[in-house]
Amino acid sequence: MLDRPSNAASRTSRAALDALAELLGDRLALGYAEREQHGRGESYHAASPPDAVCYPAGTEDVSRIVRVCAAHKVAIVPFGAGTSLEGHVGALNGGVCIDLGRMTRIVALHAEDLDVTVEAGVTRHQLNNHLRETGLFFPVDPGGESTLGGMAATRASGTNAVRYGTMRENVVSLTAVMADGTVIRTASRARKSSAGYDLTRLLVGSEGTLGIITELTVRLYGIPEAQTAAICAFPDAAAAVATVVAMVQCGIPVARVELLDPRTIQAVNRFSGLALAEAPTLFMEFHGSPAGTAEQMGLAEELGRHNGMLSFEAAADADTRNRLWRARHNVHYAIQAMRPNARVWSTDVCVPISNLPRCIADTQADIDAAPFFIATVGHVGDGNFHLGLVIDPDSPAELAEAEALNDRLVRRAIALDGTCTGEHGVGSGKIRFMALEHGAALGVMQAVKSALDPLGIMNPGKVLPA
Ligand SMILES: Cc1cc2nc3c(=O)[nH]c(=O)nc-3n(C[C@H](O)[C@H](O)[C@H](O)COP(=O)(O)OP(=O)(O)OC[C@H]3O[C@@H](n4cnc5c(N)ncnc54)[C@H](O)[C@@H]3O)c2cc1C
Repeated sequence: MLDRPSNAASRTSRAALDALAELLGDRLALGYAEREQHGRGESYHAASPPDAVCYPAGTEDVSRIVRVCAAHKVAIVPFGAGTSLEGHVGALNGGVCIDLGRMTRIVALHAEDLDVTVEAGVTRHQLNNHLRETGLFFPVDPGGESTLGGMAATRASGTNAVRYGTMRENVVSLTAVMADGTVIRTASRARKSSAGYDLTRLLVGSEGTLGIITELTVRLYGIPEAQTAAICAFPDAAAAVATVVAMVQCGIPVARVELLDPRTIQAVNRFSGLALAEAPTLFMEFHGSPAGTAEQMGLAEELGRHNGMLSFEAAADADTRNRLWRARHNVHYAIQAMRPNARVWSTDVCVPISNLPRCIADTQADIDAAPFFIATVGHVGDGNFHLGLVIDPDSPAELAEAEALNDRLVRRAIALDGTCTGEHGVGSGKIRFMALEHGAALGVMQAVKSALDPLGIMNPGKVLPA
């Protein structure tokens, strides 16, 4: 017999916990520290610990756990690495966390078809390490050390999306456990299919509210023959963004183009030991043949010059490039380090690229007036940018200010035909914007949810308003 955890919001009955313990033995955890860590992730939201954490060893295990939860009407929160940023993994009313982090098998590599099938707990670094000798790589690269399952569940992207696409474009097929425990495979490995509804894309971005992804097949790419990077400083953000818009509109196949504002550069210099000029700066990368990358870089430089750029520095050697991109991926922690005991409220929006200059310019006044440090950083080639609001999580005044600023940002983006989140997802943090963004389509989403999860046990309180 197990002692029922003391979480006041608990809805998991003793009978359900006993059944899970019988199924999982010591792969069921009830300790508070472990539950708390699983109820928060990296987001600014307060932790909402689940009543228990399950560690399945494979798809069949997940199916058995879900059947127990369905029989006892217990809420289920899937968990990858907990790097999500919008309160995705909080067990808002108790329930059970299913942590897929121990499911790390590379199931099948089909180098000749440029795809690989992995278990959901494989992280993007683990996958790329595994691929090292093959000449192939997987390009989607969110900053956190996230799992492929979590990335598919949040429809994640990263610095490479402008060239290689997001998880939406790169997931070929999924194995998933549905809310009643049924195991499905959403598609074959064929690159195209016109056969039936696209369940792959329904589950990609569903944040654990429709099913649990246990395996996924993703696309791979050949490592480009040549990769060159450049750092380009501008007198103001408008000039930097105008350069990016021109690059995209001219069809320069840039692989990465990231905007860092002067505050972000200041934080990065301190955290990563760089000495970049504190100016709006583009980090760019070009992939292709040596001649092709040189041509792309020349064109980008010309467009930058046309927009009054201050400096253009190429970084062709691998060490400098890696140092640069490591610094970019550590931006979240660099800005957090600007204020002791602070937490970063990281929010992202995305607009059509031609509306990006206006969206960023209109947001600048808010940033300048804010009483706390705010960093702007963006995957601007996609029209996607982030604000990192460095706040004291114990200050109601700062939280209220951050919420109001975030609200204005999202409404501005939606008014510009954009979205409340380009890549972080909805979680519980952006749920209140779903009606504004989707209108009547929200009702269709709710109908899909009711059909696939009639008991409402799959990650309740996320993505869709009740
Ligand atoms: C420093 C930093 C930088 C980041 N940069 C980016 C970025 O550039 N681009 C970007 O897109 N995101 C970024 N993120 C956010 C985060 O890394 C992504 O959302 C990532 O995809 C989450 O993966 P995870 O494995 O940590 O999932 P988790 O946080 O564990 O879970 C995320 C959501 O998916 C669900 N879920 C997890 N696994 C499964 C599964 N197997 N089946 C069904 N549902 C599941 C969970 O219930 C939850 O709702 C960043 C985060 C940090 C901390």
